[in-house]
Amino acid sequence: MITSQTGALGLLGHPVGHSKSPEMMNAALKAMDMPYIYLAYDVSPAELKQAVEGMKALKFRGWNVTIPHKVAITRYLDELDDSAKEIGAVNTVVYHQGKWVGHNTDGAGYLRSLTEEMSIDLSEQRIVLLGAGGAARAVGYALATAGVKKITIANRTVEKAEQLAEHLSRWTRTAAVPITDCKEAVEGATLVVNTTSVGMYPRTEEIPIPADWLHREQIVSDLVYRPRQTALLTAGKKKGAQIHTGLGMLVHQAAIALELWLGKPAPISLMKQVLETT
Ligand code: NAP
Repeated sequence: MITSQTGALGLLGHPVGHSKSPEMMNAALKAMDMPYIYLAYDVSPAELKQAVEGMKALKFRGWNVTIPHKVAITRYLDELDDSAKEIGAVNTVVYHQGKWVGHNTDGAGYLRSLTEEMSIDLSEQRIVLLGAGGAARAVGYALATAGVKKITIANRTVEKAEQLAEHLSRWTRTAAVPITDCKEAVEGATLVVNTTSVGMYPRTEEIPIPADWLHREQIVSDLVYRPRQTALLTAGKKKGAQIHTGLGMLVHQAAIALELWLGKPAPISLMKQVLETT
């Protein structure tokens, strides 16, 4: 029941019409018995400042931020937590002790999903990250600070791979290579993570690296969640590798946001179930 006590949460993005977050978040809020609603707001870059001022005035508890506002939002916030600072982007805003604080739950969400679904010793991982965009920065930061052995960044634009490798070298051993030239790194990797958008709907037949480079001694992980099982994951499975889909990250980054806003654990399996059925 919506009453005069109902609090507001939401998602700011452009576009947001395809997002399943309202279904997932409202189901979670109901199960958590929290008096909040979560709505998606389509806000253009030119309207961002005004939208943020409005949400502050309306005393939102917080909100999520998606493409294209993850970097631009930072200038309207009072503080950034370490993850948002290091990743250089915000996906969750929280009102905390009179301040608007930016967080980034993407990396932590990925890590929770990986360790929940896979039996994995992070300290033993030699990782190839395919891609060097926003998602790679978040996942790379989470993996590097979790103490993995080595991260090789393989990207189409090698300069971006070099910049990310340099940044992550504060926490772990790193290397950078062009994505066309990462065969040796992939063959020697225990974990291969696709953070590029290659394979995403509607170009679902595309694969970021040749299937032949994958093998059964590794985990193949894909952040792309539409389709659930990408061409890369299908190829990995055929080779006998363990596969890890992007769905868990989507759920866990949202669950961490709920925990930051409400101070309670979120219902992970229900949230997964909602995404699987909508
Ligand atoms: P982004 O910042 O735009 O980065 C895109 C990356 O993909 C760049 O490294 C880009 O290489 C690479 N790329 C794009 N097209 C390519 C192609 N044809 N061949 C090779 N590389 C290509 O995007 P993002 O925010 O990092 O998101 C990347 C993907 O992660 C998206 O599919 C997104 O849906 C997914 N994602 C999933 C979750 C989740 O919860 N599961 C969360 C966040 C993101 P260049 O640098 O050379 O352009």
